[in-house]
Amino acid sequence: MLNIPPDAAAAQEKPAEAAKATPMMAQYIEIKAANPDCLLFYRMGDFYELFFEDAETASRALGIVLTKRGKHQGADIPMCGVPIDRADDYLQRLIGLGHRVAVCEQTEDPAEARKRGAKSVVRREVVRLVTPGTITEERLLEPGRANALLALSRVRAGEDAWTFGLAAADISTGAFSVSECGLESLTAEIARIEPSEIVAPDAFDSDAGLRRMLDETRIPCTFTARAGSDVTAERRLMDFYGVRTLDGFGALTRAEIAAAAAAVAYVERTQMRARAPLGLPARLSRGATMEIDAATRANLELTRTTTGAREGSLLACVDMTATPAGGRLLAERIAAPLTDRARILERLDSVKAFLDAPALRADVRASLKSAPDMARALARLSLGRGGPRDLAGLRDGLAACRATARLLAADAAISAQAAPEIAQAQAALAGLDDALEEALTRALAEDLPLNKRDGGFVRAGFLAELDETRALRDESRRVVASLQARYCDLAQTKQIKIKHNNFLGYFIETSQANGERLLQPPFNATFIHRQTMADAMRFSTSELGELEARIASAGERALAMELATFDDLCARAQAHDAQIKAAADALACVDVACALAELAAQRDWTRPIVDDSLAFRIEGGRHPVVEAALRRNGDGFVANDCDLTGEDGGALAVVTGPNMAGKSTYLRQNALIAALAQAGSYVPAARAHIGVVDRLFSRVGAADDLARGRSTFMVEMVETAAILNQAGPRSLVILDEIGRGTATFDGLSIAWAAVERLHEANRSRTLFATHFHELTRLSERLPRLVNLTMRVADWNGEVVFLHEVARGAADRSYGIQVARLAGLPADVVARAQTLLAELEAGDRRKPMAEIVNDLPLFAAAPAPARASTSAPAREDALRAALDALEPDEMTPREALDALYALKRLPREG
Ligand code: ADP
Ligand code: MG
Repeated sequence: MLNIPPDAAAAQEKPAEAAKATPMMAQYIEIKAANPDCLLFYRMGDFYELFFEDAETASRALGIVLTKRGKHQGADIPMCGVPIDRADDYLQRLIGLGHRVAVCEQTEDPAEARKRGAKSVVRREVVRLVTPGTITEERLLEPGRANALLALSRVRAGEDAWTFGLAAADISTGAFSVSECGLESLTAEIARIEPSEIVAPDAFDSDAGLRRMLDETRIPCTFTARAGSDVTAERRLMDFYGVRTLDGFGALTRAEIAAAAAAVAYVERTQMRARAPLGLPARLSRGATMEIDAATRANLELTRTTTGAREGSLLACVDMTATPAGGRLLAERIAAPLTDRARILERLDSVKAFLDAPALRADVRASLKSAPDMARALARLSLGRGGPRDLAGLRDGLAACRATARLLAADAAISAQAAPEIAQAQAALAGLDDALEEALTRALAEDLPLNKRDGGFVRAGFLAELDETRALRDESRRVVASLQARYCDLAQTKQIKIKHNNFLGYFIETSQANGERLLQPPFNATFIHRQTMADAMRFSTSELGELEARIASAGERALAMELATFDDLCARAQAHDAQIKAAADALACVDVACALAELAAQRDWTRPIVDDSLAFRIEGGRHPVVEAALRRNGDGFVANDCDLTGEDGGALAVVTGPNMAGKSTYLRQNALIAALAQAGSYVPAARAHIGVVDRLFSRVGAADDLARGRSTFMVEMVETAAILNQAGPRSLVILDEIGRGTATFDGLSIAWAAVERLHEANRSRTLFATHFHELTRLSERLPRLVNLTMRVADWNGEVVFLHEVARGAADRSYGIQVARLAGLPADVVARAQTLLAELEAGDRRKPMAEIVNDLPLFAAAPAPARASTSAPAREDALRAALDALEPDEMTPREALDALYALKRLPREG
């Protein structure tokens, strides 16, 4: 969408029209026309200004004042501006809202422009596009979350079929990976990557309904349409990496090459002249990770909850990493559990090594705590956007690498046999060249400015010439100060002050009366009048002028030397780019293993047995998130077993039990245990044996899922269809009350048929929670079907949830008891009980009409009389007294006294 008046773009072609715009406006319009899909930040002095519709959009989004500046074609030009030094804040908010911003800077000195002619404007150019998927600033990024740009491509794979290529690039760290898949897995892949921005050809959206699919994944990301390119994909990749062939890339498919090239093209378009530090694209082969579709991912709340928050997700619950890079790696692992048994065992070995060595773990975690985010610092430096603090980040990061390498090398727990992954990481950390760290340590001062142009970041003593220049600058400043005394003598007054401002530079200020004297001989030979203020006069002297020039040029020379030092250090860091990145990855890997060991130690988790069987046997399993929430309330979680191990196909458990009994929790905890185990983590269970799960499916009946706009029953059926069509013997399927979104008999029939199909055809390991008790009968006919029920106790007609899974079927649904707990009026509860008894006792073939007619009428309970309130009041007193007792804290004598007191209570009440 063009945000400028319709005729403005044409202004270029019609000089007569353009002539009407001021030269600056003409320049603005031209630049805006070249960046129609971005908000244009147009640099003017200390502000970025926005005009026309951009101004309106930004003022609305940022809550800043909309003003006017001049006229264009007779109408006021709306304008708003953001100050340069606060630009990051505003960018962050605009990017957060999904906007793209083109940053347009002045690229020549105003003096140069004046030389070209009185009317010429300063040359300006867009130096960078800031988009959600291509940011690098620390303040714009979330530390523990990757920021991926995803480029999509597609190639024809047959008559009606496409193969999609996916390239995920995170320029804030240099991570770059590619994969491919068919249409049926596209949203699953997108959900795994969780991009901040997707770049795809426009056509894609229209034929593949990409935007709709994105809505389904419920990932808040920006969609950017991409124009076709006249450069071939291969050519673009070769140019970007400066290579002659793509041989070094490994075997990439056509779709992957096209996607990688599209990612590179977009990165180049947004970063302009700066080259983003992307590594070679790593290929993720299909089947290497557990397939988890978008709905399952959302439903299990692996990395974010259904509302999109990280808090409350599995990831947030298990993340004990000490560094942002470790947090990102853990997120990546939880989002994509492995299927390769050997690699899973390797990760588990790493956790075990640190679990068995608590002292080492504590030391390593302590040394990691101080490690800055090296990957992101390096990326900013490579893009020319880094500052002195990024260099310090490398310095401190390298020190942490060295310290960690030393700790690992000294401990027998870390050996190539016991923990190959960590031993490898140790080698990468130890292999770092110390020279860079030393150079950084020697060069950088203690307190560092954010911006390199502020200077002062090179340590005194590092460069003799810099020290001299600084001394000259500082000495001159002292000379200026001593001049003040001399001038006071000369003018025979004590009221002379030397001051400084940007307009006059150094100047002398004195009172009006003194000033009048200085205008007269002999003083006027020294003092040159500059300004007369209301009650003061300002003068300069030739001496001051010279000093001023010396100070300025010394300052400039010092800064130039500092900047040269900066560039030099930057170049040295970039020369070690690959080693630093490898070390940063190694550090993250160590961090994750330590964090998972810490987690296992603190929460008493166990190492799962993972193999290629079809076992699924969990003893004493817990739901980590629900357990943590209960623990906060001081409540305990009831651990439960689950065995879906089958002979020639997985077992299918039908789980019944009243609402609130814990069915959904039980289902999900088993799925989470599988995901955690295959991510390489210990699991919340006493024992776990899992034959590798290749696909994980989880669906919830529509009534539980109100967040969606479409007909919920329709969604439920679409998703159930996907499972029945895709699940296989290696899959783990979790179905939670499927069929409850429709009329009873419809729902029952659908659930019934689905169970039969899962058992007979899909043969997946399956947990099927249902409120259709009729389904439990199927165990008589389906050999691998087991019935499980959530135990409840009936206590004086009140239902008590035990949250305990047992073999068998629920004897009844306790719906009415639960309704009573929920506060349904007593008369409705009583009536429902009568109806239930009638319906259950009645001959099933007796027509409904007869039952309806035979029953006595509903009688509303009389309004509660005042007198009757005393009974509940007494009950409350009794309850309060009971709650106050702490049996564990009491002596037998106290207990007996308490008992007598209780016995007295009702009568007193
Ligand atoms: P259902 O799906 O049967 O309606 P839920 O799984 O939603 O029941 O559980 C309801 C509540 O019961 C949960 O929010 C949790 O507080 C509690 N709960 C569930 N399982 C357990 C358990 N194993 N131990 C303790 N409390 C549990
Ligand atoms: Mg439920």
